[in-house]
Amino acid sequence: MTDTAAEARSVLQRLGVAPAAYKDGALEVRSPIDGAVIGRVAMQGPAEVSDALARAEAAFQSWRSVPAPQRGELVRRLGEELRRHKADLGRLVSLEAGKIVQEGLGEVQEMIDICDFAVGLSRQLYGLTIATERPGHRMMETWHPMGPVAVITAFNFPVAVWSWNTMLALVCGDTVVWKPSEKTPLTALACQAIFDRTAADMGLTPGLASLVIGGSDAGMALVDDPRAAIVSATGSTRMGRAVAPRVAARFGRSILELGGNNGMIIAPSADLTLAERGITFSAVGTCGQRCTTLRRIIVHADVYDRLVPRLAQIYGRLPIGNPLDDGTLIGPLIDRAAFDGMQAALAQAKAEGGTVHGGGRALADRFPDAFYVAPALVEMPAQSAIVRHETFAPIVYVLRYSDLDEAIAMHNAVPQGLASAIFTNDLREAERFMSAAGSDCGIVNVNIGPSGAEIGGAFGGEKETGGGRESGSDAWKGYMRRATNTINYSTALPLAQGIRFDI
Ligand code: NAD
Repeated sequence: MTDTAAEARSVLQRLGVAPAAYKDGALEVRSPIDGAVIGRVAMQGPAEVSDALARAEAAFQSWRSVPAPQRGELVRRLGEELRRHKADLGRLVSLEAGKIVQEGLGEVQEMIDICDFAVGLSRQLYGLTIATERPGHRMMETWHPMGPVAVITAFNFPVAVWSWNTMLALVCGDTVVWKPSEKTPLTALACQAIFDRTAADMGLTPGLASLVIGGSDAGMALVDDPRAAIVSATGSTRMGRAVAPRVAARFGRSILELGGNNGMIIAPSADLTLAERGITFSAVGTCGQRCTTLRRIIVHADVYDRLVPRLAQIYGRLPIGNPLDDGTLIGPLIDRAAFDGMQAALAQAKAEGGTVHGGGRALADRFPDAFYVAPALVEMPAQSAIVRHETFAPIVYVLRYSDLDEAIAMHNAVPQGLASAIFTNDLREAERFMSAAGSDCGIVNVNIGPSGAEIGGAFGGEKETGGGRESGSDAWKGYMRRATNTINYSTALPLAQGIRFDI
């Protein structure tokens, strides 16, 4: 059996985190693998937030004028460091967040990928040249750094989300103050140690990126401080509801990446073998604790009785276990609250007419202080209240449809709008699902599941998911301010709209 505490200590040491940072603090960090305490971290609050923002603001004054390709050099070096430390950092993600080894490594790979993306971007922060109605004039837009970015992150992607935000912010000329989830401070300490070493080796000004470990009081202090030009907050819709109006009240900019309730339509022409694989990875990967986890399957009546029993069979034989062991596909839930939330949701689903397959506690003898579960497949007669709610656990609700319009309407009739998918071999159905009258989500896939996004595309969703976009495409624009410039190189002063104003 793994000694998670000893392993966490040695990984942290290899990653260069000073032992003082995780030995004696008030916040006990428990591994979801076995419930053991793997670190004790000091909790910080509004005073430390204020100091970090002061440093970030000071660093911003010079960083904003460093040419973007030179800022990219820092990010390139960070990418190299992450490559060197991939195995250890991935291991720490597994120890602290309970992800299987493959997914821990995958998360670090995602950090490396965003570094590569951001380095390229550092030479591509383009503005437009725009046709002007006035002779002898030129109009263009330029993009400038915004200021310090407050990054608030969730437990389930403890390092990648920091990286998505920080690497873009840095090449855009912004500085960063990060408040990670209080459930995953050790991985945050490791990222910060890697950052600090790299920035110091390059002789860069201190304060470009810093870390404040704290609870929602620290988060709120970031949210309310006008020095945080942008608040990029990832977490539950409940958190977003608290954060968004406060940032808006001071006219700050927010990037919100909140809860999902991701659906998949299985059409009559679907390749069911492919669909089974897509469903299983999306619904049970990360033990159902991804914002993009598949939570609803809307199955055509013609294939329902073929697909659902096969899924129930697959669910019955999925390897649940220590996420560090080879072959495990389902690790633990993050904590007891997640387990209780799952059980309450299953009870409500039954009360709303559902038939539940699986969903019980697993491995309680071997890991009495941890929360492993069998993933649940729940057949529902209708899209009732519990189905419209995001329960952050491996529960997938199965619904039946007979007409595509009805399926799309059902798909969109939830408050969240993050990720979606259709499995079909019918071109018309696929295009319809991706059209303006199709899925209302930020991510719309065909013949692959809703989870497992890659870096090139913009990531985020609509409605209660918050509307933010991060990572790929032109998400960088969210980290910069746009200036429109009009230059007159003539000797006249013509006014727009032909207005005459002779003096
Ligand atoms: P959470 O909302 O409990 O916490 C997220 C972060 O917000 C933590 O750092 C927490 O300390 C902070 N926070 C909480 N209340 C706050 C407040 N009032 N002011 C400022 N900060 C506050 O979420 P969680 O349980 O860590 O993560 C799971 C949730 O995150 C799920 O709903 C999931 O869908 C969502 N999520 C979304 C995305 C996305 O990209 N859309 C990605 C990952 C997770």
